[in-house]
Amino acid sequence: MTIIADLHTHTNVSDHAYSTLQENCRAAKEKNLYAIAITDHAPAMADGAHPWHFTCLRHLPRRIDGVYILRGAEANIISEDGGIDLEERICSRLDYIIASFHEDCFEPKTREVHTKTLLNILKNPYVSAIGHPGNGLFPFDYEAVISRCNEYKKIIEINNHSFEVRKNSTENCREIALLCKKYRVPIVISSDAHISFDIGSSDAALSLMSEIDFPEELIINSEVGRLRDYFVAARKLDIFE
Ligand SMILES: [Zn+2]
Ligand SMILES: [Zn+2]
Repeated sequence: MTIIADLHTHTNVSDHAYSTLQENCRAAKEKNLYAIAITDHAPAMADGAHPWHFTCLRHLPRRIDGVYILRGAEANIISEDGGIDLEERICSRLDYIIASFHEDCFEPKTREVHTKTLLNILKNPYVSAIGHPGNGLFPFDYEAVISRCNEYKKIIEINNHSFEVRKNSTENCREIALLCKKYRVPIVISSDAHISFDIGSSDAALSLMSEIDFPEELIINSEVGRLRDYFVAARKLDIFE
């Protein structure tokens, strides 16, 4: 199994990342990726992009070096009622929004509070995916949230970068992936690249998937047709056009 698109990538628009969009696209082309999503941090993060960054993504070409560009954001979860740090008028112009807990924007609280917050995030029509849910700093009732993802058409991210940097991530991601398998919730495997060399990196996540015999048809970025079907259904966006 392999991935054909990387839907969580940062450019140097987020200060903690180091490559330009063109460098990321070149790397994606070298790795034979069909598409990447540009998902820089939304404004509440200390290194987040200005709102204009997100509104102006529409001026980018749809393909760079032959790689399809999805206009995205990694939004910060900022309130227990499911609020994120991008206004609706901006969200409505984007193709793909990840909602993530980051401790700079949401102080870690109890498991109950994180669960309630994510259940509210599921109701946000602009959010596509829950970002790095295996983060040990933000435990939540995995089953309560994952069992409701299909109702709200949300996907779960398995973040390859988490295996290196986030506390308890491997065990948490295994438990999360097993629940996605049980409830037939689609997932996306992403690199969360902060430099072009990491675009498309997915080995740790893919080896976990094969260990637990995860159904390939539930990984939206494991095949181009599957990715297309996802974006047509979720955003009325045909990435073959
Ligand atoms: Zn993040
Ligand atoms: Zn990220």
